[in-house]
Amino acid sequence: MTGKGRLFIISGPSGVGKGTIVSELLRRQGDRLDLSVSATTREPREGEEDGISYFFLTEEEFLKRVENGGFLEHASVHGHFYGTPRPPVEEKLEQGHDVILEIDVQGAMQVKDNFSGGVFIFILPPSIRELRKRLVGRGTESEPDLELRMGKALEEIDFLKEYDYAVVNDDLRVATDELAAVIAAEHCRVGGEADSMIRKYREEF
Ligand code: ADP
Ligand code: 5GP
Repeated sequence: MTGKGRLFIISGPSGVGKGTIVSELLRRQGDRLDLSVSATTREPREGEEDGISYFFLTEEEFLKRVENGGFLEHASVHGHFYGTPRPPVEEKLEQGHDVILEIDVQGAMQVKDNFSGGVFIFILPPSIRELRKRLVGRGTESEPDLELRMGKALEEIDFLKEYDYAVVNDDLRVATDELAAVIAAEHCRVGGEADSMIRKYREEF
């Protein structure tokens, strides 16, 4: 089936590999997929660029945008604000592009409440031990920040039942294949376009 773009919401505990899988997917099929660039009040990590990794805002700038309705969803995660800028997502969907939101569970639940047709995908670690290993291996968080993120992991995994699909990120290639398969399956879903598709065949007959 064709038509407007679809919205894919990807969540999972910090360090599970969401960013890595999504980068791999964009490398494979970036012409058909757009990743929404979030805004955040956290400090940039080494190598992160403003406008590419995130829009890095002060707390004052962030709250002003909240007041102006500039976010599709927003939440406080691990002590910082994060939000999805609304206009680019709406424009891209309208243009027929699929859009990926890589956001936390609180934000995902807001999207679920306010937006129909989102597809919710949860990325799971093979084990809690491996999750810690990846977060330590990434080396981007201070010890207290790392513990904060690990401490939240189980709370986040509790939200799994609210999601449509689960992908376990053990082998990166397999996890990326599974995510691509979910996206492909959603494009084959018989939805609101069934009538126009039937009409097309009738007209041709
Ligand atoms: P998230 O975006 O979920 O916070 P990242 O994408 O930053 O997580 O990944 C966290 C760390 O785990 C990174 O160092 C990344 O290279 C590593 N990683 C991601 N996927 C895998 C995998 N399948 N196997 C081993 N390491 C992985
Ligand atoms: P990080 O600081 O590691 O980049 O992200 C921390 C957490 O914030 C991750 O769970 C990530 O999915 C989430 N996050 C990133 N952008 C957004 C956003 O726009 N909205 C919400 N609600 N969460 C976000």
